[in-house]
Amino acid sequence: MKNKTILVTGASRGIGREIAKSFASDNYNVCINYNNSEKEAYSLKDELCDMGCSCNIYKANVADRNQVDKMVDDIVADFGKIDVLVNNAGICEYKLFIDISNEDFLNMINTNVVGTFNVTQSVVKKSMLRSESGSIINVSSIWGLVGAALETNYSTSKAAIIGMTKALAKELGMSNIRVNAIAPGMISTEMNSHLTKEEKDNFLDLVPMGREGTLKEVVDVVKFLAEDTSSYITGQIISPNGGLVV
Ligand code: NAD
Repeated sequence: MKNKTILVTGASRGIGREIAKSFASDNYNVCINYNNSEKEAYSLKDELCDMGCSCNIYKANVADRNQVDKMVDDIVADFGKIDVLVNNAGICEYKLFIDISNEDFLNMINTNVVGTFNVTQSVVKKSMLRSESGSIINVSSIWGLVGAALETNYSTSKAAIIGMTKALAKELGMSNIRVNAIAPGMISTEMNSHLTKEEKDNFLDLVPMGREGTLKEVVDVVKFLAEDTSSYITGQIISPNGGLVV
């Protein structure tokens, strides 16, 4: 077992999976949270174990507080403490504002905002306040900064995460717990797989660097925020977006 432990929510695929792999190669114990994608979670665990990493998978819907508390208790029992939390789990939805149902809206807020609240509060209470240290990295989006048409749901949830990040950084600074967020631009994952080539090209025409971001470019920012290289940085929103939002 290594000295430092990271919990990544929604780690079975996409950005979360890449974060988990990268911290495994940096000698962290890696806790993989998943909700539905059990097969992918097991395959990631096998991959990380083959790299010599101490890791485990934890099934929990981040929107369900009881499941989250059990997950955090299990992780503390397995690894002692949680040093880095990445609140990556999230959903998105494209709909005209007038077509968004009350249920759609609450589902978005429950997953993206309440989910981030649940996991953060549980980890802070059960681990980080006890060890008086920690780095929390919330995954927002450029749309949380500037809003996107057809994504009022998603933009609202990602803006809320920015507010939570800034407020919590102020409250937890004295306890040596840093709280930051990343607000990525377009990164090629399942989340964007519904876009046609034409839709993607139209979007990329607006990006000064003229391309999507890579998973590595997002992971590098998360790593910077997790480590002592950013030891005086808290309450900040860093946006790897190719210059789209400046
Ligand atoms: P993705 O859909 O591949 O990954 C999201 C993960 O979250 C999945 O593994 C999913 O199962 C998990 N998840 C969803 N609801 C959950 C729940 N209730 N409990 C536990 N896990 C749950 O998409 P991604 O692109 O890898 O997205 C990761 C994060 O990055 C999301 O928060 C997303 O909003 C954000 N983001 C993505 C982009 C992009 O362009 N891909 C840009 C900005 C921000």
